[in-house]
Amino acid sequence: MSATSTDRSAVESPYELDIYPKRGIQIVRGKDAKVWDHEGREYLDAAGAYGVANVGHANEEVARAVGEQARKLVSCPGAFSSDVRSKLLQKLVAIAPKSLTRAFLCNSGTEALEAAIKFARYTTGREEFVCAMRAFHGRTLGALSATYEPKYKQEFAPLVPGFTHVPFNDCSRLEEAVTERTAGVILEIVQGEGGIHVGDGEYFATARRVCRERGAMLIVDEVQTGFCRTGRMFASMHFDLEPDMMCVAKGIAGGLPMGATLVSDAVAAPTGLHGSTFGGNPLCCAAASAAIDFMKRHRLDERARERGDLLVSLIEPKKLSRVREVRHLGLMIGVELREKVTPILRALQQRGVLALPAGKTVLRLLPPLVITEGEIRYLADQIAEELR
Ligand code: PLP
Repeated sequence: MSATSTDRSAVESPYELDIYPKRGIQIVRGKDAKVWDHEGREYLDAAGAYGVANVGHANEEVARAVGEQARKLVSCPGAFSSDVRSKLLQKLVAIAPKSLTRAFLCNSGTEALEAAIKFARYTTGREEFVCAMRAFHGRTLGALSATYEPKYKQEFAPLVPGFTHVPFNDCSRLEEAVTERTAGVILEIVQGEGGIHVGDGEYFATARRVCRERGAMLIVDEVQTGFCRTGRMFASMHFDLEPDMMCVAKGIAGGLPMGATLVSDAVAAPTGLHGSTFGGNPLCCAAASAAIDFMKRHRLDERARERGDLLVSLIEPKKLSRVREVRHLGLMIGVELREKVTPILRALQQRGVLALPAGKTVLRLLPPLVITEGEIRYLADQIAEELR
C-alpha cells in the first residue's frame, strides 16, 4: 500500500512532538537530486531538503570527509584550536564578500542570526533593529523578533523589543526608519519564506550608505541564498554588497548542521560572553570544507544560473494559465499561483516531485544545484502538467 497521505502510522513516529505538518512519506535514502521513500518510490527533490542539499544528497566527497574525520576527532570545543576548523574558517573568509574577515561558527541559521544581533548590540551599544516586511530569519526569540510574519510570533509573545519592519525594496522607508538608535539593519538578499522576492541594487546600496552614515551594522541573512544557490557564491555578490555581517547555514556543510556569522573588522565580539558547545566541531568543519571545495570545483554557481534560467524558461506564465508570475535568482525559484499552493504540493508529490511553499500561493523550488538538465526538463514537465 502506498504511504502517501493515507497510512500515517506506517511513516510517522508516535513519540515525535507534533511540530511539523507532515507530508506522509518516510524518506530513507538520497542521491544527488533524488530521494527514495521506505517503499522504494523515487522523488525528484525540488525542495532540496529545505535548500540544504546544494551539493546533492549523499555527496561522495562530503561522505568521505565525514567518515575520515569521525574516526579521527569529532568534538573539539571552541576554547581549543582545531586544524579542520582553522582550514574551514580560512576557506569561508576567502569565498565571502571582501569586507568579512572573521567568523563565529554555530549550528543553524537562527543561531547565526542570534549571534549577529548580539554582536551588533555589543559593537554599537544600541538596542534597535530595522528589518523588512515579509522577512524570515529563524525561530529562536531574537531571530523570531526580526522575522515579520505575525503567525509565527503571536503565540510566543513577548518577543525581544526594539525590532521594526519596513517594506522590502523601499529605499525611502528604509532611510526614514534607520536612526542613531539603530544597532543594525537585517536583510535577506532574496526573501525566501516570504515568497521569493529579489531585492534590487539601489535598495542594497541605500542600506549600505544609510548604515554607514548612521553608525548601524548592515547584516545580511544569506542562510537560504548562500553557497551558490542564486548563481553566485553569495547573493550579496550580485550587487557588490559589502555587509558588516553575513549569516549563513543550510548548504554550508553538505547537509550537516552548521551555521556561521561572518563579520567585518568593524564588528567587536566579547571574549567569553558568547559561544556554542557544538559550534565549529571538527565533524561539521570537515563536511563544510569538502562541500565548499566541491562547489568551487564543479562551478555550482554557474550551474545554478544556467539551470535556473532553463527551468524558468520552461515554466513561463504565458504557457501556464494557473501561474501569475515566476520570480527567481539562480535556482531559488518562486512560482506565484492564482490559487493556494498546498493542493499543488500534494499533487506534485503524487507525481514524484517534492517542492516547498513560500506563503499561501507561492510554489518554491530549491533543488540541489547538481540537478541534471534532464531532471530540470522532467521537473518542468511535471509542473506544467499540473498547472496548465
Ligand atoms: N534565515 C533564513 C533566510 C532562512 O530561510 C532560515 C530558514 O529557513 C533561517 C534564517 C533559519 O535557519 P534555521 O532553520 O537553520 O535555524
